[in-house]
Amino acid sequence: MSDYEMVIDGRRVDAENSFDVTNPATGESIGTVANATLDDLDAAVAAAGRAFPSWSQKSDEELSRACLAVADRIEANADELARLLTREQGKPLNMRGSRREVGGAVAWARYTAGLSLPMKVIQDNNEGRIELHRKPLGVVGSITPWNFPVMIAVWHILPALRTGNTVVIKPSPYTPIATIRLVEIMNEVLPAGVVNIVTSDDAQANIGGAMSAHDGIRKMVFTGSTATGKKVMKGAADTMKRLTLELGGNDAGIVLPDVEPDQIAEALFWGGFNNNGQTCAAMKRLYVHEDVYDAVCDALVAYASGVTVGNGEDESSSLGPINNQMQFDKVSRLVEDAKKRGRVLLGGEPGEGLFFPPTLIADLSSDDPLVAEEQFGPVLPIIRYSDIEDAIAQANNSENGLGGSVWSQDVEKAKSIAARLECGSVWINRHGAIQPNAPFGGVKSSGFGVEFGEEGLAEYTDIQTLYC
Ligand code: NAD
Repeated sequence: MSDYEMVIDGRRVDAENSFDVTNPATGESIGTVANATLDDLDAAVAAAGRAFPSWSQKSDEELSRACLAVADRIEANADELARLLTREQGKPLNMRGSRREVGGAVAWARYTAGLSLPMKVIQDNNEGRIELHRKPLGVVGSITPWNFPVMIAVWHILPALRTGNTVVIKPSPYTPIATIRLVEIMNEVLPAGVVNIVTSDDAQANIGGAMSAHDGIRKMVFTGSTATGKKVMKGAADTMKRLTLELGGNDAGIVLPDVEPDQIAEALFWGGFNNNGQTCAAMKRLYVHEDVYDAVCDALVAYASGVTVGNGEDESSSLGPINNQMQFDKVSRLVEDAKKRGRVLLGGEPGEGLFFPPTLIADLSSDDPLVAEEQFGPVLPIIRYSDIEDAIAQANNSENGLGGSVWSQDVEKAKSIAARLECGSVWINRHGAIQPNAPFGGVKSSGFGVEFGEEGLAEYTDIQTLYC
């Protein structure tokens, strides 16, 4: 029997086989998780399909109240969720990590409960009346990554529920446990079958691929790498699924010559190292004007040297380990290679187990693999520029387009540069801040569709135009 089971049709369901989940801080197993077969997926989709007719008939107010009840239950179980999350993901338990993520999940759930997409009257005159109605889609399939598993699950599930859809979610094999608990908690206040979870090690069966192609699923919301996002898109073609794809990023930050380096060092650091750099919209390339280049490097080193790295269950840690071996190896390889050309200002040597210290590497060029690839770890390459036009061109010379930032005391000037960056979100004098009322999404290969706000909610609906 698995330690953690799936939830299908309101009931815990085990599978014949299970897989182990390990704590990245210690390498120890923290439990076995049910390993779904394709039949389990079919059962979950069928349950969500059976729950859809009555769920989608609920009034707007009933759906809003149900989402609020979900938010309340998450809040009531926040401590347990945060502890599970730290053990499987590695991030600190404190407000830099799991408690902030679970708090964010509550905030997003509450805000989404309060949103609504009322019928719009497009025309009402002698020539007739035209109304625009938003209708739920059916069963929504959600696939989540390992970096923010609880918050991203809420970003997927709550807008789906709020608009009258039902859900089957599949978390990452590295971080399924907190999501299982989240779905159990949701099922305490929702009718059976409205939210189901299937868990898989991705090896025994390709559950994500089967979801993308499943004819019982009407929409896929996928957060993960661009390579897997493309597979989801291909798999979804035959059934004409709606898609929201939140994919990889390789965000650039551009520092103008008028900054005060000591004043921006802390925000610059966390723009790159939030969640140990394992954040889609983290600053992964920093372009600094030559006039302030040395001073910015010094200020970053001074701040980063005081950041504590350790087991996330120790509340004094500000950063934990890298989540998994594959990611650790990727970061190690890129750093080792970049050391041949760049100047290591801090870190640069792998630590024990999956720990990797915050690493700053200066004097790299834009085509260095550490700069050009999404390394997704606690590393920030720093690139010197002299001409802002070059810096903008280099920032835009990427297939990714998730986020970007401009750092300057002259906000109007920064805004004019921000407008020229090819990305879905741009920040001035900070990087990576997101809010439940502000749409978030990528351009170019970072995906399409947005999450959050009314625009994000609308993605879980079809429009029906009514001519009366
Ligand atoms: P990943 O693409 O390896 O895995 C994501 C999910 O896809 C997992 O649940 C995985 O099990 C599943 N999956 C595996 N094979 C599949 C298939 N063939 N079909 C469908 N699903 C399949 O990504 P990851 O390593 O878990 O996450 C890191 C990536 O996610 C980074 O690229 C990061 O930038 C991106 N990300 C993007 C956002 C955003 O909002 N844009 C947010 C967080 C993470």
